[in-house]
Amino acid sequence: MADRVILHVDQNSFYASVEMLRYPALRDVPCAVAGDPVNRHGIILAKNHIAKNAGVKTAETIWEAKQKCPDLILVPPDYARYLYYSRLARKMYCEYTDRVEPFGIDECWLDLTGCPRDDGLDVAEELRRRVKEELGLTVSIGVSWNKIYAKLGSDLRKPDAVTAITRDNYLDVVYPLPVEDLIYVGRATAHKLRRIGVRTIGQLAALGPTYLRSVFGVVGLNLHAFATGLDETPVAETERENTVKSVGNSLTTHHDLYTEQEIKAVTYMLSESVTSRLRDAGMAARTIQISMRDYQLYNFERQAPLPFPTQLCSEIAPAATELILEHFERGQKIRSLGVRACNLIPISRLKQQSYLAREVKREAMLRLEETIDDLRGRYGGLSVRRGISLVDRTLTEHDIKRENVIHPVGFFGP
Ligand SMILES: [Mg+2]
Repeated sequence: MADRVILHVDQNSFYASVEMLRYPALRDVPCAVAGDPVNRHGIILAKNHIAKNAGVKTAETIWEAKQKCPDLILVPPDYARYLYYSRLARKMYCEYTDRVEPFGIDECWLDLTGCPRDDGLDVAEELRRRVKEELGLTVSIGVSWNKIYAKLGSDLRKPDAVTAITRDNYLDVVYPLPVEDLIYVGRATAHKLRRIGVRTIGQLAALGPTYLRSVFGVVGLNLHAFATGLDETPVAETERENTVKSVGNSLTTHHDLYTEQEIKAVTYMLSESVTSRLRDAGMAARTIQISMRDYQLYNFERQAPLPFPTQLCSEIAPAATELILEHFERGQKIRSLGVRACNLIPISRLKQQSYLAREVKREAMLRLEETIDDLRGRYGGLSVRRGISLVDRTLTEHDIKRENVIHPVGFFGP
């Protein structure tokens, strides 16, 4: 059987690169993304190359990093934004194959075997260029016939590089590398291997499966397969997220909610987040569910069918609001609200073009909401806001206040 064609794509210094894209001035100074020190997550999550050259390492404490690099600029992580760029990259990979297996937020394996374009090097070079041009980020890509070597290849040269590990060069390229460079060989295994005199991947390969099995059990067989390129683990099919059963968001507000207007503002905000996630997952909801908790911590839940399967905030928010207000009694103090989209169906199973005026209008609304997703992904969650969210900013900025507003774009109804 012919060899598989597998790519491993790794986005370089991912968090730091996304921050430099947002704040270009960071390109000229040592900078790192680091968890909030007051929340005791004071470690370096990613750094740019200037910080790296100064000796700053991922996973060390801010204190250690500052010792080596006193001028280090620290940026708090913005996971929503990283996720946004991660998805854009994956979307691009999916143009080449339906087998895209994510490994963390910034790495993916792609299996091009049997795809219309299955020249691994050619596609890798194109992806490298496209990610740079279209996203402004860089990737390093490994190309090989198995996942382990592809991953190894993407680590060999970075940033912005493609490395092929082939049947012709792997003995020269892979075998001299330290065993720790193999994915899944952790510190404990490496330590054990060292004790039996194994330092390089080549030395590991030379031990043979029988011996490795006697020392490490079944893990030993895996180690042998990893080292020799015999590993046949498939690249998982892209998760069409139809395993997702429901998408929900809830919020405990800064102060209790008394008025219908306040409830409406929060419900719209929650619905926006829910529907944006639905659109990301390519799903539409057929049922809406709401939950309320009052100040005495009494919980309440209700659901109702939606007239059409939908991923539109302009349909889900009014339905959720109506359902909540139906059960809200004047004088009640609401502490927490939840909106959940249930009974999901992939939109690929819905799409039949319809020219009914109603459908044309819904389609236009979908384009609008997708455009807003895009703006928020680029400029932050508060860049585009519904007028109603201004009823009480302490309520509606609660959940997303960690996001940085860069360019307020404007407001839109209702
Ligand atoms: Mg990376």
